[in-house]
Amino acid sequence: MVTPLYELLKEAKYPEDKEPIGIYIHVPFCKNRCNYCDFVSSLYKEENGNKYLHTVKKEIEWHFKKQEFAERFRNAQVDTLYFGGGTPSILKSNFFQEIIDLCRSSFRFLPEAEITIEINPESARLSELLEFKKMGFNRASLGVQSFDEEELKRMNRAHSREEAIRAASIIREAGFKNFSIDLITGYPGQTKESIIGSLEKLISLKPEHTSVYRLELKHGSHLEYQIERGEVPPIDEEKIEEFYKIVYEMLTQNGYKRYEMSSFTKPGFACQHNLKFWKDRIFLGFGAGAQGMTGSIRYANIADVASYSDSVEYGQPPYVSYKKVTPQMRFKIALIMGSYLVEGVDLVSLSNRYHVDALAFVKNSVRNLIEEGLIEITPDSIFHITDSGRSDLNRIFCKWS
Ligand code: SF4
Repeated sequence: MVTPLYELLKEAKYPEDKEPIGIYIHVPFCKNRCNYCDFVSSLYKEENGNKYLHTVKKEIEWHFKKQEFAERFRNAQVDTLYFGGGTPSILKSNFFQEIIDLCRSSFRFLPEAEITIEINPESARLSELLEFKKMGFNRASLGVQSFDEEELKRMNRAHSREEAIRAASIIREAGFKNFSIDLITGYPGQTKESIIGSLEKLISLKPEHTSVYRLELKHGSHLEYQIERGEVPPIDEEKIEEFYKIVYEMLTQNGYKRYEMSSFTKPGFACQHNLKFWKDRIFLGFGAGAQGMTGSIRYANIADVASYSDSVEYGQPPYVSYKKVTPQMRFKIALIMGSYLVEGVDLVSLSNRYHVDALAFVKNSVRNLIEEGLIEITPDSIFHITDSGRSDLNRIFCKWS
């Protein structure tokens, strides 16, 4: 007889969460709006940057006034700090200095902590990059998306191909030994030649890491509107698959290893911050639209900058959602997020972490998908999503949600 799934997870316990935590700071400003974007971001004005600095600092201080948070996180070890956006590099360097100082005085930073800033080519300046290095940033992530001039225009990116190449070169000149470039595949109108051209340029710039995202049509984006009006062709999933094979081949032939669905790295440069999400670790998020997981609570901040700032100013919780996560829910999240990793999920470790039989849970819940070849479990209990499973993730994850 098959044991019901809820029985298998009934006795689950929270993991001890002894590992260092990650901190994410969201910067919700950009120079303009890319056509495909639905991220939390609005157009930048200098006075908004200063006000936002004050608000984010106040939010961090607000958290520490809560006894439970202060007891749990004061002196928590931190091994990653990530400024994402939006376009963080659009802000003046004092924003980062003040936030880093506050974080360093509130938490316990490990000496080898990975400190990342996302940079967009149009706002990359050597003087600022040198400042960032001095402040302790040791990783830069450059949002390029394409090295094809026409594609950049169709995306409504704020930079040209030449600016992207120049940005990569000044990142190196400023002394960053760990930098990443983001690309997008499957943008309407993208051709085999243009994706090959972008990859060739990327490879020639020798970033240690790259994330190549498959385009997803976001509800409310300008691209959705353009497609609905027939101004641009719809997204072609078959082409995305075809292009992704090219991406995989070109990057792996040039010394990159895929370690997550969209992420490739030279040896030793996997993004430690993003691994927090995939490896079931604790991360705190501050700023408009930022998300966090404290271990038993998952929260998301209000995305609208004005409403977020009002809440913080009035000492109100800045959340748009705040949910208790039971050990059973966390176990399932750990399984889903771990599935994105090429190394898969070690079901023995997961069992020990949650005090449940993870192997029995997976086998009972997705038996038919194993038979269909979407999922495999190795003899040493490593759970993997197969290549065919990767294009049918929703069918797999709905079993656990
Ligand atoms: S730079 Fe990034 S966050 Fe800003 S509009 Fe473009 S895609 Fe969105």
